[in-house]
Amino acid sequence: MSTRYDYDLIVIGAGSGGVRAGRIAAGHGAHVAVIEEDRPGGTCVIRGCVPKKLLVYSATVAADIEDASGFGWALGDIAHDWPALIAAKDKELDRLEGIYKKLLASAGAELIAGRGRLTGPHEVSVGDRKLTANTILIATGGWPQIPDAPGLAEHAITSTQALDLKALPKRVVVYGAGYIALEFAGIFNSFDSEVHLVYRADLPLRGFDDDVRQHMVDALENRGIHIHSGTTVDQVSSQDDEIAVTLSDGQTLFCDKIMAATGRVPNTSGLGLEDVGVEMNARGAVQVDNWSRTNIEHIYAVGDVTDRINLTPVAIAEGHAFADSLFGGRPRQISHDNVASAVFSQPPLASVGLTEQQAVQDHGEVDVYESRFRPMKNTLSGRDELTYMKLIVANESQKILGIHMIGPDSAEIMQGLAIAVHMGATKADFDAVIGIHPTAAEEFVTMRTKRQS
Ligand code: FAD
Repeated sequence: MSTRYDYDLIVIGAGSGGVRAGRIAAGHGAHVAVIEEDRPGGTCVIRGCVPKKLLVYSATVAADIEDASGFGWALGDIAHDWPALIAAKDKELDRLEGIYKKLLASAGAELIAGRGRLTGPHEVSVGDRKLTANTILIATGGWPQIPDAPGLAEHAITSTQALDLKALPKRVVVYGAGYIALEFAGIFNSFDSEVHLVYRADLPLRGFDDDVRQHMVDALENRGIHIHSGTTVDQVSSQDDEIAVTLSDGQTLFCDKIMAATGRVPNTSGLGLEDVGVEMNARGAVQVDNWSRTNIEHIYAVGDVTDRINLTPVAIAEGHAFADSLFGGRPRQISHDNVASAVFSQPPLASVGLTEQQAVQDHGEVDVYESRFRPMKNTLSGRDELTYMKLIVANESQKILGIHMIGPDSAEIMQGLAIAVHMGATKADFDAVIGIHPTAAEEFVTMRTKRQS
């Protein structure tokens, strides 16, 4: 396309958003370079969704083993081999990294190893190399943030190290109330570690429905996780191999590992964005419009670095729309409404659309349908755990505004329901559907008792 510059497009960051944007733009005929300082694949593939979910699968097997005797299985002495799990996970990540490299190469995009930095409006430096492009895409993702408490940063591991532990810690303090904190608390707890979950708020999972948040706390406690709500970590110290964590309520917890899952910040420091005048907010997130364009006409940003909805499918959708718009002759924006999401805790949670609190705020009165029941599997297994489901329906239009679930397979169930919400389904549409029996999901089409909110 352009001859003035070395490339039509330089992408900084080969994560979910950057790889998708780079390979689609190259597929549209653009001359593309993608710069990556670590391993192609980015957070999701190397130190996020994928390795986490592999550990979650292993943790879920632990629960199945616990439940097995109720179904007639006599398993005898069995043991879990943590190093074998980590080695198997690493092998899979190597395979996926290779696939990401191939995806870029086969699309004709050049992968450049090193740290990219903007050194001019159209110039990116990687070590001693100076590269120029007509368009620049910032796709540098985010990074864990650790609060300021004496000894915390020094002793705490983050999710990145938690995925690579050489041995399973017997006692763990997980500090944080977001989905990553809950997921790791669930993983460690499933392998019989003593887990303490410490967070400042009354309930975990800010932004999720309040009933769901309360049900989650009950479920985690029921699984044996020690909850310390309304509490912060004041100080961390260590002696020999033992870590002492002093909490704001005066308690001291002794553990083998403390994990800080206390939020993530956009990865913009040292990128040179200030030097070329790219606007960022107070958290360092690149400010973009609906086309993912910054205040500088030829500089764009997608994914976690923009701090919109920090999920892989969102970064991918933003990157794809960017590439189609600029290089494919197909201008399009993506919608950030009704993005379904899941927390792969034990038990898992999934939701789409509005919480009850948001729905009341936006729509006034709403109808709420709820169900709490013991799933059939838990009858023979004897597991004392309830599934919770909730539908939020607009009072006048009867449109489904939000769907929430805690229980086995909730993420798999929610993906299909998200299509219905996206299409504007009403409660009558749900009522007209005949369920699949016996499943938990059929409950969503048989809810008849409502309360007003
Ligand atoms: P990233 O994937 O973070 O990629 C950014 C890339 O840029 C990285 O490879 C980085 O090395 C590189 N980079 C940064 N600066 C430079 C530079 N100056 N020069 C060159 N390269 C640079 N999302 C989900 O949807 N589902 C999940 O289950 C889920 N689980 C998660 C679990 C964990 C533990 C974590 C941490 C995240 C999880 N996420 C999940 C979030 C998901 O990983 C991110 O939303 C997604 O990776 C964002 O993609 P991105 O392209 O914006 O950035």
